Amino acid sequence: MDKNTRICIIGGGPAGLSAGMYLEKKGYENYTILERLDRVGGKCWSPHYNGRRYEMGAIMGVPSYYAVHDVEEFCGITHDGPQLNRNYKNAKGDVIEPFEPKKNILKIPRLLKMKSQLKKFGELLETKYKGYDVNGHRGVAEGRYEGFSQQNAKREPVSGTNPNLKDLCLPFKVFCEKNGVELVQDVWIGPYTSFGYGYFDEIPAAYVLKYLDFQTTMNFVKVNLWTWKNGTQYIWEQLNEHLKNPARLNSNIEKVERRDGKVYVTVNGKVEEYDKIIVTAPLHIPNKRADGQKGMDEYFDVREDEAKLFSRIDYERYDVLAVETKPEDHPEISYYVFDNMVPEKLGHLMVYYRRWKDTKDQVITTYSLRKHKDSKEVPYETCRKMVLDDLKTMHNPASNVVNEWSVYYFPHVFSEDYAAGWYDKVEAMQDKYDTFYAGEIMSFGDMDETAEYSRELVERFF
Ligand SMILES: Cc1cc2nc3c(=O)[nH]c(=O)nc-3n(C[C@H](O)[C@H](O)[C@H](O)COP(=O)(O)OP(=O)(O)OC[C@H]3O[C@@H](n4cnc5c(N)ncnc54)[C@H](O)[C@@H]3O)c2cc1C
Repeated sequence: MDKNTRICIIGGGPAGLSAGMYLEKKGYENYTILERLDRVGGKCWSPHYNGRRYEMGAIMGVPSYYAVHDVEEFCGITHDGPQLNRNYKNAKGDVIEPFEPKKNILKIPRLLKMKSQLKKFGELLETKYKGYDVNGHRGVAEGRYEGFSQQNAKREPVSGTNPNLKDLCLPFKVFCEKNGVELVQDVWIGPYTSFGYGYFDEIPAAYVLKYLDFQTTMNFVKVNLWTWKNGTQYIWEQLNEHLKNPARLNSNIEKVERRDGKVYVTVNGKVEEYDKIIVTAPLHIPNKRADGQKGMDEYFDVREDEAKLFSRIDYERYDVLAVETKPEDHPEISYYVFDNMVPEKLGHLMVYYRRWKDTKDQVITTYSLRKHKDSKEVPYETCRKMVLDDLKTMHNPASNVVNEWSVYYFPHVFSEDYAAGWYDKVEAMQDKYDTFYAGEIMSFGDMDETAEYSRELVERFF
């Protein structure tokens, strides 16, 4: 592609900003990033409180966050944040140690079985499911893998045929049962469901395993994790400062029209002309949202194939509260509540995060899910009350809520559409209307998968 191509990027989150970085690295400097809010970072949002920053969005990374590491190198920053620490509580608020055999004599047979299934699972993923962990979903529904290896920072291109990969279309629960490793869900559920990515009986295994590949899950188990002192938002603020063309904030995109090989974007009342457009903002939002976010299908001259495919996207209703507590009510550490990570406990507190060990004058953040594919959405206010009540049950009552949001989170499709080749159909549309689709839906809803997808998009098409 001509290096002078005029490229519009919608969204100043990890996907959009890293698309800018990778384009720039490849010699494309004629790009413009449009961000609707007055800040960059998207779901990496780290507000200030009592002289520090807390996390309303993304919190952590793992050592295999190669794209995030590219950004760190580009900006000369590193993951310098507080060590993560966690413990577990049951729904009654008692501290438990579910993985410690000595504390769970009756559960020893189950724990032993889980250990052996874990070993088997690791082997299965390496052999039967070879190719499962490349970024993105190209070919999976047809039993192929195609992408860039995530085994090390080199990210070599890999491809091959493996009919077993079709199993990844199944809900993760069914996938585990099929392989006789159902107990590994006890290990995967912590960094999956409580991190807002839905329930194992509804979410295709492909999403679960592309994010939580075996190595990443082991890093969670060993708490071998990265955080950032100034918050994850700082990574993207820094990137924005280092880009030749920083994001244009407060950009209200009213209309996008694609005709005669050009893209016309009406932004803040003015029409701008581009050659290509990369969309990292939501492609489709099935309901009206209080925060005013819209799917691209609401402001683009959307074509029939786009409308049909994007209408299949759903997302998680993931709620975060930032609360103050009295010093004597401050939790000792972060806690996971496994009892609440099941669809029957929709709306309840699943995990709460104490970020700073050295002080009790900082906020605690709480996390809950309000929707399962087969159930009615729990109303926001009901869920909020449940979470605050749960904090009391946990012996860590909140004295005040200082911040809150219900996030448009983890867009995805369900097994039926996944198996029917949703991803290959969308991938085949890349550049069809001078439009590229990137961001969470195309890979997975975490910082690295989205930034990595942008890297690969630039590698593949520019
Ligand atoms: C509570 C929470 C915890 C999380 N924890 C982690 C974690 O520990 N580790 C991790 O890796 N990830 C985590 N994530 C996920 C991670 O933050 C996201 O996956 C990542 O930010 C996605 O990047 P993105 O650029 O694709 O989308 P976003 O971050 O959503 O960015 C999209 C951007 O597009 C903008 N936009 C939307 N519509 C328009 C429009 N019409 N015009 C212009 N701009 C528009 C938005 O304002 C936003 O800035 C967490 C997220 C949340 C909310």
